[in-house]
Amino acid sequence: MKDEIILNLKEVHQRITDACLLAGRNPADVALLLAVKTVAPENIRIAVEAGETLIGENKMQELRDKDSGLKDLVIERHFIGHLQTNKVKDVLKYVSCIQSLDRLNLAKELHTQLEKQHRTLDVFVQVNTSYEESKFGLPPDEVLAFIKKIKEYPTLQIKGLMTIGLLDVDKEKMLPSLRLLREIRDKIYDAKIDGLTNLKLSMGMSQDLELAIAEGSNMVRIGTSIFGNRFLGKEIWNENNAE
Ligand SMILES: *Cc1c(COP(=O)(O)O)cnc(C)c1O
Repeated sequence: MKDEIILNLKEVHQRITDACLLAGRNPADVALLLAVKTVAPENIRIAVEAGETLIGENKMQELRDKDSGLKDLVIERHFIGHLQTNKVKDVLKYVSCIQSLDRLNLAKELHTQLEKQHRTLDVFVQVNTSYEESKFGLPPDEVLAFIKKIKEYPTLQIKGLMTIGLLDVDKEKMLPSLRLLREIRDKIYDAKIDGLTNLKLSMGMSQDLELAIAEGSNMVRIGTSIFGNRFLGKEIWNENNAE
């Protein structure tokens, strides 16, 4: 497993570099976040010891269960799954960034808890760029107004936009969601909102990282291409199992 993870990591970094070169971009401008749902701490450790620092978890339960196994590692943990409001307090114990901010009551609850703790939090606004009902995220045409509203919560540091996008074997089908996220970002820039001049795009997964980088991604979130296939079924996107 160890050799495989290290080899896979090399391949993913090569894919990122190649995609950047093809797009005329600097590979240093695209961060790699390891999407580690269902991945055991010992396998996460292999990747971290190979130089990775950015980890994304989807579920509160996994954050908690893996915490002791990762305590000595210098890593930055992000929450990338659907977050239920009643789990906010717990999740804040483990992460420095939430990439799945997608509704006002979640923003409010985050702000309330953060104020109590006298701290701030990095957030990405999650957008449902594929218009699929099974996916979370704000509808694209509500993002600008939402961003203006959450600017009222000074504990939330808006770092960018996140999307999962439409996943398909057909590139032509995946492209529009990725492009849309960039267009939404540009629309926010056009609105000249105070302090929002550098918004990152978190998009691109195992299947579509090249396309995402061509469309301007600043952070790809990769699981399968590094840790292999895991059983996922529908449960990751399912509200009943969501965090
Ligand atoms: C699982 C997951 C990823 C990574 O997907 P892979 O296809 O395994 O690379 C990225 N983002 C989110 C939100 C995920 O849940």
